Amino acid sequence: MAREHPIERVRNIGIIAHIDAGKTTVTERVLFHTGRTYKIGEVHEGTAVMDWMAQERERGITITAAATTCSWNDHRINIIDTPGHVDFTVEVERSLRVLDGGVVVFDAVHGVEPQSETVWRQADRYSVPRVCFVNKMDRIGADFWRTIDMIRERLEAHPIPIQIPAGIEADFEGVIDLVEQTMISFPSETEQITGEIPSELKAEAATQRERLIELTAEVDDQLMISFVEGHEVTPTELKKALRRATLASKATPVLCGAALRNKGITPMLDAVIDYLPSPVDVPPIVGINPKTDAQEERRADDDEPFCALAFKIVSDPYVGRLAYFRIYSGQATEGAWIMNTTHGRKERFGRLLRMHADKREDISDVYAGDIAAAIGLKNTFTGDTLCAIDHPLLLESITFPAPVISVAIEPKTKDDQDRMGNAIQRLAEEDPTFISRYDEDTGQTIISGMGELHLEVIVDRMRREFRMEANIGRPEVAFKETITRSARAEGRFVRQTGGHGQFGVVDIEITPLERGKGFDFIDATRGGSVPREYISAVKQGVVQALETGAVAGYPVIDVAVSLVDGSSHDVDSSELAFRSAGVLAIREVLRRAEPILLEPIMKLEISTPENFFGDVLGDVNSRRGQVVGVEPRGKLQIISSMLPLAESFGYATDLRSLSQGRATHSLEFDHYGQVPASVAEQIGGGRVLSADPARA
Ligand code: GDP
Repeated sequence: MAREHPIERVRNIGIIAHIDAGKTTVTERVLFHTGRTYKIGEVHEGTAVMDWMAQERERGITITAAATTCSWNDHRINIIDTPGHVDFTVEVERSLRVLDGGVVVFDAVHGVEPQSETVWRQADRYSVPRVCFVNKMDRIGADFWRTIDMIRERLEAHPIPIQIPAGIEADFEGVIDLVEQTMISFPSETEQITGEIPSELKAEAATQRERLIELTAEVDDQLMISFVEGHEVTPTELKKALRRATLASKATPVLCGAALRNKGITPMLDAVIDYLPSPVDVPPIVGINPKTDAQEERRADDDEPFCALAFKIVSDPYVGRLAYFRIYSGQATEGAWIMNTTHGRKERFGRLLRMHADKREDISDVYAGDIAAAIGLKNTFTGDTLCAIDHPLLLESITFPAPVISVAIEPKTKDDQDRMGNAIQRLAEEDPTFISRYDEDTGQTIISGMGELHLEVIVDRMRREFRMEANIGRPEVAFKETITRSARAEGRFVRQTGGHGQFGVVDIEITPLERGKGFDFIDATRGGSVPREYISAVKQGVVQALETGAVAGYPVIDVAVSLVDGSSHDVDSSELAFRSAGVLAIREVLRRAEPILLEPIMKLEISTPENFFGDVLGDVNSRRGQVVGVEPRGKLQIISSMLPLAESFGYATDLRSLSQGRATHSLEFDHYGQVPASVAEQIGGGRVLSADPARA
């Protein structure tokens, strides 16, 4: 079977938005207009198509990054779901890896909200070309131009309006298309009329078109020439220039509409096709050939060797374990054997599926640039590379932060106990930031994640999807340790027993690394003072010993360890001896390197009405919070701060009572910071030590 759409006609996009901006509504309208769903669901009625998880529906947040396929104007659009809630930034990162372009939705009343900034910067980091959709133009207080100013100032972007609204608030009728110079109005849900610009808007439309050309010429040399020469710019010429500028991330076309009223959605779909990249417009994917360690490229071409990235594992109630993947190059058929390069194992595509909003479609083959799902990949996890067996390539995996918070979970009954194993396994497969372990000492199962809300969502899913009831313990913080200066020490493991002795001596140096750099091991020995075959044993010992720090026994992070020297014995040296020497050396060197205790620090953003500002701020301070900035936004004050995770438990409830439910907040892991001495003493003194540090 041949491909249905030439690759140039494929768009892999994400609809990116701050929670409540209207992402779900926009997505649904898109699915409606592209003909895949026939009834428009309202979010508040709980029938949204994308949010299939019951629990998401209730909370109104989208957590899964499933992909849905639809078609528009002879193009295939794959919509990769992105979460709007910053507590789930990992999900955003994950989707940004596999999409080529984004539609960023803003609420015309609120404009750019603090959390949109976070997501915008992530998209910048991945160089994702974007168009903006200013939604809710029908709401009282909607302001298209203010939102554009905010996009320019807050997001430091180059927004270019390609439409202006016709009417506003209750009178919002449609949009003026500045490129084609027409008015598009939407008299009813399914009707759309393209006509002449009404006389009262002609002057403004003409001025704004001039402005559109100017703004585009600023970032596109070709259009600049036409502009200088002063000849008439045709719609085609303008579109091409805008496309070039958008693909180069030099500009962001801005559109507007009201998704709830079905206004502006179809022009937005046209813009996705006109301005966002196809898989051939983005740079070829680069990976490492595991056989040669050399960098190799794969172009988005069906004739290249097959190469894909698995970006989401979902346990589907009907078909079982489903792996979503993005095909970067080549093609594959149902039943084909491929290589999972990440784990070095062969895997077989059982069924291949394309997911539409309302149905799964079995497909026989997949091609470069597409997104599909597979059944039958038993050992494939999020971030794994899949490729042609004879052309192995390893793509950069998707990196996930280690969990920062843990709770003990105790099933209520024997039946619950039986269900727990399955529930945990399935949920952990879907979500790499969710980890569980069994604590030998207490006989409890400990689950760990990225924040209180994250774990609440998981426990909630256990209850609903796996019908498992459990008691949940108090949340515990995953402390870490690091060092503040370099130090050097020797580890000697020398035993003289009866016949065969043990001999391993290593000299190591430890140096602090920048926060977030993790761990590095360098073999700096010369002249074989430590024989080659024992180097990895030393490293194993080092890694093992770093699990238990010198301050309070928490894992040590952000250090580089170099093996400087050592000595061996012809007969008595062994892997065990060198591994033990590594452990001893680390124990000693940690003590000399002025170790400190670290705790997870969360980024806390609060939006509160004026009259609660003082109380809310005072509360942040009393929790060891550091206020980073305060800025007014309309009648609200936005407080940005850094708050130790340990002080954030129950924050949602406390904020609600402080502000009579009027303030909102977001809480997201940001970095590890030093625990102040007074607090560290309590921890070192055993208060928290007796609890459970989650293992990284
Ligand atoms: P999400 O959190 O970004 O997915 O946002 P939703 O799609 O759930 O929308 C949040 C709320 O805004 C819901 O109550 C929607 O009905 C409402 N909404 C979405 N689009 C519009 C719009 O164009 N106009 C108005 N007035 N309300 C809208």
